[in-house]
Amino acid sequence: MQMPEKGRDWADVRQEMISRGGGDAQWRDGRTAVYVFNAGHEVEQVQQEAYQLYMAENGLGPLAFPSLAQMEKEVIGMGLGLLHGPEGATGAMTSGGTDSITMAMKTARDYARAQGKPREGQNVVLAQSAHLAFDKAAHLMDIEIRRVPLKTDGSYEADPAAMGEAVNEATVMMVGSAPNFPHGIIDPIAELGEVAARKGVWLHVDACVGGYFAPFARMNGVPVPAFDFEVPAVHSMSADLHKYGYCAKGASTVLFRSEELYNYMPFDLAGWSGAPMKTPTLAGTRPGGAISAAWGVMNTLGVEGYKRLQGQVCATREKIEEGVKRLGFDIVGNPMLGLMAFSHPDAHAFAIYGEIFRRGWFTSVTKEPPSLHLMLSPKHADVADAYLADLEASLATVKAGADGPKVEARYS
Ligand SMILES: *Cc1c(COP(=O)(O)O)cnc(C)c1O
Repeated sequence: MQMPEKGRDWADVRQEMISRGGGDAQWRDGRTAVYVFNAGHEVEQVQQEAYQLYMAENGLGPLAFPSLAQMEKEVIGMGLGLLHGPEGATGAMTSGGTDSITMAMKTARDYARAQGKPREGQNVVLAQSAHLAFDKAAHLMDIEIRRVPLKTDGSYEADPAAMGEAVNEATVMMVGSAPNFPHGIIDPIAELGEVAARKGVWLHVDACVGGYFAPFARMNGVPVPAFDFEVPAVHSMSADLHKYGYCAKGASTVLFRSEELYNYMPFDLAGWSGAPMKTPTLAGTRPGGAISAAWGVMNTLGVEGYKRLQGQVCATREKIEEGVKRLGFDIVGNPMLGLMAFSHPDAHAFAIYGEIFRRGWFTSVTKEPPSLHLMLSPKHADVADAYLADLEASLATVKAGADGPKVEARYS
């Protein structure tokens, strides 16, 4: 496309933009279980309106926009309050989980340097199930990633002893996930903490998907093990607001146990032609709307709202677990939150995926082991029965036929 010589009326452009979405996943009806966290129309409206209020403002300028600086501070405070942040803990908002992870790794690296650890051969030790954002960050910083196989007991948890063996004097960070994305399993963070403390290594907990879920699940009685700053060796955490925080996209938190650790994150430079500028994270300009929308959603939902929504998600997961077990599927490990993966002994997960996709469900898959993957939202309470019925039909189609129609599995 070339830029049009003359602009058109907004009404016309708007209409075209809306119709362009016609071919997208129709997530508002609940038949999408990846990419979007659907807490219903009211929450979406708060996201939109709260975003618009500060859409033009810039989080880069805390003196110009003390409103945003204060909202960010309070969002971080709310996060730390939920995640057992001790006195003096602090953090910053970023644009997303990848951003939070990148900043945490950069901070851990600079901290390791300050501790006199070797600059050669720097590495990060994590489980095979940890998010690929760590690899991306490590690639940017020329840090080696050491992926360690999971426990072999069927729990799909990180293996703290094996991870300890992968640590050397140049390890800048160990990582645990709460939960991991592929299986929705919470790693044994307390045991990882013991290993990290013994080895003198920074422990990061990636709670991108669980940070604003697990605390409420625990309030609802789910036996969530210690996974946050409650574990003394945890130095930093990533927790996404734009996932189970139900905030507008472009919002995550990176949190540190102390100001001393946090201070290795900001970038501060006076030696150029422009005015001196200190930025806490990778971004220069920071969208005010992402900050105000997060503040707005957190304050309209409150603890009660999140408890209700996360309770709905857990109940839906339990219902789907029961349903898929009845159909002969095996659940991968013991998921406790909103993510789950499951496979069938008699039919390949990716073939079933193709069938259920054809029936109008935009879900996902996990590769190790080959399984179907669901990331559940509150909205899915309304469609769990319909999903299970279509899953049963999909399974029957796949079982019926090596010579049935070949479906091309298109997975996210
Ligand atoms: C989503 C996710 C990330 C990455 O977050 P983005 O916001 O997509 O950049 C990292 N870790 C886990 C466990 C995640 O679920």
